[in-house]
Amino acid sequence: MRIATITNWAYGATVCLTIVAGITMVLASSADKVERAAVRQRDLFDQLTFEVENDLAELTDQARLATVTDDPSHAIAYERTRASLGSVEQRLARLKDGGASEQELRSLAEGLRWATTLEDEQQAAIAASRRGESATARAIVFGPEYERELERVRFLIGRFRYMLDQRSDNAIEQASQASQRLRSVSEAMVAITAALFLLVLGFILKRRILRPVMTLSDVVNRLADQDYTVETPAFSQVDEIGDMAQAIRIFRENGLERQRLERERDADWAVRDLLARMTQRLQGCESVSDLFAVVRLFAPKIAPTLAGRLYTLDNRMKLMVCAAEWRGAKDQGVKDQGVGERGPQGTDAAFGPDDCWALRRGQIHAPGGEMLDVPCRHVVPSAARATICVPLTAQGETIGLLVLENLAADHGPDDSTGVYIELMSETVGLALANLNLRDVLHQKALFDPLTGLRNRHELDDALRRLVATADAAGTPIACLMMDIDHFKGLNDRFGHDAGDFVIRTVAAVFAGGARDDDLALRYGGEEFLMLMPGADEALALERAERIRERVAGLDLTQEGQPLGQVTVSLGLAVYPHHGPIQALITTADAALLRAKEGGRDRVVVATQRNRVGGISPAVAI
Ligand code: GH3
Ligand code: MG
Ligand code: MG
Repeated sequence: MRIATITNWAYGATVCLTIVAGITMVLASSADKVERAAVRQRDLFDQLTFEVENDLAELTDQARLATVTDDPSHAIAYERTRASLGSVEQRLARLKDGGASEQELRSLAEGLRWATTLEDEQQAAIAASRRGESATARAIVFGPEYERELERVRFLIGRFRYMLDQRSDNAIEQASQASQRLRSVSEAMVAITAALFLLVLGFILKRRILRPVMTLSDVVNRLADQDYTVETPAFSQVDEIGDMAQAIRIFRENGLERQRLERERDADWAVRDLLARMTQRLQGCESVSDLFAVVRLFAPKIAPTLAGRLYTLDNRMKLMVCAAEWRGAKDQGVKDQGVGERGPQGTDAAFGPDDCWALRRGQIHAPGGEMLDVPCRHVVPSAARATICVPLTAQGETIGLLVLENLAADHGPDDSTGVYIELMSETVGLALANLNLRDVLHQKALFDPLTGLRNRHELDDALRRLVATADAAGTPIACLMMDIDHFKGLNDRFGHDAGDFVIRTVAAVFAGGARDDDLALRYGGEEFLMLMPGADEALALERAERIRERVAGLDLTQEGQPLGQVTVSLGLAVYPHHGPIQALITTADAALLRAKEGGRDRVVVATQRNRVGGISPAVAI
């Protein structure tokens, strides 16, 4: 019930009770009037009966004085008093007018009649006294008969007064009781009104306002502190408090919804921040192994519910090979039984590209979605619904694959995670393509496409590294410079392709003479250079001779046409034996020149400190 309704009912009840109380007060007031009238009537009767008694006593006294004294004034006074008295009827009429009842008046009338008898006797005594019969006169008014009659009159008047008093007292008593009763009723009405008022006020204030308002105030304070876990009171009452509770409930639900949206937004920002940082790190990767490490670190944070593998295409074996794997952040600790068990459990470590529908179609493949779809062959059937494959493409070319498996549920990622996975796959694909491109460019910049040997691009850096190690270890570095003899003529005779073929073949022999630590490179045209850390002059010379002999022993034909014998000349210099490191290559080159000058197809060792000299099995200097 609404407070306004309760208030209206209480107001109506209060008004009714107040009216009743007013009426009873008016009635009590009229009862008081009745009481006062009864008192006044009794006073009036008292006065009238007193007059009768007084007159009777005064007549008796004057009559007796007139009989015992000779003074005639008493008889005169007696007559005057008697003349002033009204008749019995007149007196009764006054009492009747005063409200005396018939029975009372009969009682008084009897007394007055006896009083009249006494007056007759008094007059007789006075007349006897005038006649000089004093003894007779005194015998009349002092005699026992007179006393008896006088006493009777007094008795009758007293009885009359008693009856009047009885009746007046009864009337006063009744009026007083009625007045008291009505006053009590009136007071009770006022008390009930006040109690009702206080009750309603207390009920409204405490039960319907104070307590709910305090509860709501507490709830509002907590909501103001963004504490939306607070339970809103379920006030079912249909009133303003109920409306407020409903409004607060809606406010709390809105707050919870807003908090949920803020949490989602914060989580989205956090993941996008991770994606941005991952992109930055990927851009800074120097190698694919760097890239794999970045993906291993960030992917479990971006899609915490998913374990994953990154596959790259092994062009040589035509296989997708697992390059990195990780377990979803939320699954870590569930069964951390070793590196091999961290990734998805339901997919092969290597498989042919045709085994994956994502690679075939160039699109994300998620058979666990709502749409029916075929599982990939590289995924075990039990994990098919929980696995999604995301191809990594760049410039329209598929260069890798992400395989993600939800280890906790029988379905792929939810929609929001799916968006992050797409973004992640784009970023990783692009970074992988960039690294591949960079590798290609790097290879092109460092390696000679004709021979596959390194070119002289990083020769200075390599030399510096080797010298630092050699100086630290106190070991030598041998430098071998080789040039094909009369190559221009070969080119001219057999054509450029034949020349290239010869260069490739000689280069292979040259590279075959190098150890793991040696650095063999194409120095230019048909010139080759080899740095041999740790090799002294004797060892280097031995190898150089072996190379020279192998080249000289080649039997080269191009498209069935013999190209004739190919020979090479070699110059050898050893650091630090033949001079400073800066002059090592030029010293070897100078030795090569000497070999040319000496007739070619030979090895010439540089002489110490620019002194060129040496040995050759073919031509000894
Ligand atoms: P020498 O014995 O004094 O070294 O005589 P040569 O004919 O070899 O003289 P030189 O070293 O000056 O000649 C180098 C020739 O090699 C010139 C150039 O046409 C040829 N040449 C350089 N690079 C290539 C290449 O990549 N392929 C082919 N076919 N020929 C090349
Ligand atoms: Mg040459
Ligand atoms: Mg040359």
